[in-house]
Amino acid sequence: MLPLTTPIPWLAPAQAQLREAIAQDRLSHALLITASPGQGGEWLAYWLAASFHCEQTLEHRPCGSCRSCRRVIADEQPDCLVLRPIEESKEIRVDQVRDLTAELSLTAYGAGRKVAIVSPAEKLNRAAANALLKTLEEPTRGSVLILVSGEAKRLPPTVQSRCTRIRIAPPTETSLVQWLQSQCDDSIDWRRVLAVIGANPLAALEVDAAAIVALYDETVRSLERARSGTLDAIETAEIWGKDAYGLRIACMEHWLLQQLRQCVATDQKEVAARLFELQEPLREARQWIDSPINKSLALERLLWSFNSVGAGAPSRGRA
Ligand SMILES: [Zn+2]
Repeated sequence: MLPLTTPIPWLAPAQAQLREAIAQDRLSHALLITASPGQGGEWLAYWLAASFHCEQTLEHRPCGSCRSCRRVIADEQPDCLVLRPIEESKEIRVDQVRDLTAELSLTAYGAGRKVAIVSPAEKLNRAAANALLKTLEEPTRGSVLILVSGEAKRLPPTVQSRCTRIRIAPPTETSLVQWLQSQCDDSIDWRRVLAVIGANPLAALEVDAAAIVALYDETVRSLERARSGTLDAIETAEIWGKDAYGLRIACMEHWLLQQLRQCVATDQKEVAARLFELQEPLREARQWIDSPINKSLALERLLWSFNSVGAGAPSRGRA
């Protein structure tokens, strides 16, 4: 996890709001942090949880380095409970919520407040959400429940309405790129990395960014060759099918979008119409990401359809 003292500009307004609420002792007992995946919703939940337990003075909390902060980050702080989907079921189940409720009703072990983080909250199944409602309606004194969700609409309205919403506005691409440059290598083309992995800055820090850029460039070169009819679709599909299928699809989607934009800008209606037809096979190919089907075959079909776009399309770089 990113250190709790890391400045994350798009979270700063929420941090200020939460700090003020704590200082004035009017923090809601139930919060719903909504943020797109990888934009720091869960990090903010840990930041808040640690600020209740940190050993530093109020204005320096959370420090991220004292024993209490470290225990929160490591999920070892007994007054800070974290609820996640059970591995196999991919959902948060009612028995987990019941255990959590029982734990919350006990007196805190330490001097801090009892905190529970539920993330991602949209994974609560129906029974679990219903069980959680009771806790939301009759909270244990002093406890704080923090729900984190990238898809809050999937939560029952009754759960949503009982929480104070902390909305994280999606950062602009420019601010994400600036932030990534400040956090690590500023020679990396972060725009391209984000194009492939999505607007997911925290994940961007974890991946091999240089390898992603290389993969993107190599994919684009192959697509250009497919278009000019010089790509060996079978061999390429064979290689791509073995590794990084999802990333290849993301590269293709981004490339297609760029091409469509160029066509619209240069009023090439016919080519645009042919490019539009690629969207459907790409969408279909995306659905196979997690399936055990033969990826090489799917890619081969896809590359043939790119081939059919043919000549007359704008070449790369001609804007
Ligand atoms: Zn601390």
